[in-house]
Amino acid sequence: MKKTFVIFGQKVQVQYSKNSIVDETGKHLSGFFNPQMRMIVIGPDTPEEMALTLLHELFHAVVYRTGAAQIVSREAEEILCEAFANFVFENFDFKKSKKSKKVTRSKK
Ligand SMILES: [Zn+2]
Repeated sequence: MKKTFVIFGQKVQVQYSKNSIVDETGKHLSGFFNPQMRMIVIGPDTPEEMALTLLHELFHAVVYRTGAAQIVSREAEEILCEAFANFVFENFDFKKSKKSKKVTRSKK
């Protein structure tokens, strides 16, 4: 899976962890975004769940980069990230994304 994304000119690295992720309170996490390190970590899961988690965390990075994280509550941010991740997952084909032909945009 892709390891570097550019979000508004800033690179975000993605690490795929072989071990499951547990936060400081002992709660299991599917993944997380660390804004200071500009890094996303994705835990092991089914390919579909990992794609959804990656999208979710990427949207956290987008929210962070836009500055919206400062005015949106943590709860609202979670709902938005989850909603956008599911929307993209439902409407774009991730199974073919590995070797698919590049999406060419028609200019209009
Ligand atoms: Zn989240």
